[in-house]
Amino acid sequence: MTDPDTVAAAIADADEVVALTGAGLSTASGIPDFRSEGGLWDEFDEQAFTLRRYRAQPDRFWADWLSLHDHFFDGEVAPNPAHDALARLEETGHLDALLTQNVDGLHGEAGSETVVHLHGTGTSATCPDCGASIAVEAARERVDAGAGAPACDCGGVYKPDTVLFGEQLPRTALQAARRRAETADVFLAAGSSLTVDPAALLPDSALRNGATLVVVNLDRTKYADRADHVAREPVEEFLPAVADRLLDGEHD
Ligand SMILES: [Zn+2]
Repeated sequence: MTDPDTVAAAIADADEVVALTGAGLSTASGIPDFRSEGGLWDEFDEQAFTLRRYRAQPDRFWADWLSLHDHFFDGEVAPNPAHDALARLEETGHLDALLTQNVDGLHGEAGSETVVHLHGTGTSATCPDCGASIAVEAARERVDAGAGAPACDCGGVYKPDTVLFGEQLPRTALQAARRRAETADVFLAAGSSLTVDPAALLPDSALRNGATLVVVNLDRTKYADRADHVAREPVEEFLPAVADRLLDGEHD
């Protein structure tokens, strides 16, 4: 089992460090995991959140999507020490890019700036016809007012910026993530089960290009035998410890 010192040393020696985060990063913030047992997809029907349904039944789609959104952001949701640690690493020049599968926006709230959202973001909606964007709360006001699906001035229907089932991943995000994985010296996967593409493939790409692969995740991942360093620890404890080791060392 890898300790925080080892990971801190690997990061200190690297020119380019790229992190990939998944649902496990936000569970300590109280955000439910979609796919785990007892996760959101046990409670909600995936079929209600397809691109096809958004197009065919936008009013009902939006009502269901907002209900899912409420469930997802149940109560006060704030970044946890794992988000803070990654933001500190970026701020101090130790993290060059952050790729995330999460749609909760917590990396941005924690202060991370270079965030690539592989599955979109749950805080805004965009009109597919003209590209206009509104906050989800503004969309909610229109739905609550009985207007049905929120309509754009151009006549289009706003779509949540989360990637729906049956929808392609955002192309620019995907390209950026692949490029980052290829050029990373250290690729740090944290809180991701690494089972859903493209997250499942990015570490592979990093390894092929000679990166040191670090996996921090409570459950075993398919990279357990190929990663250089594996820590099956809570990310909200392990990542702050890594940041502390790295940043304390610089003050010596
Ligand atoms: Zn529009």
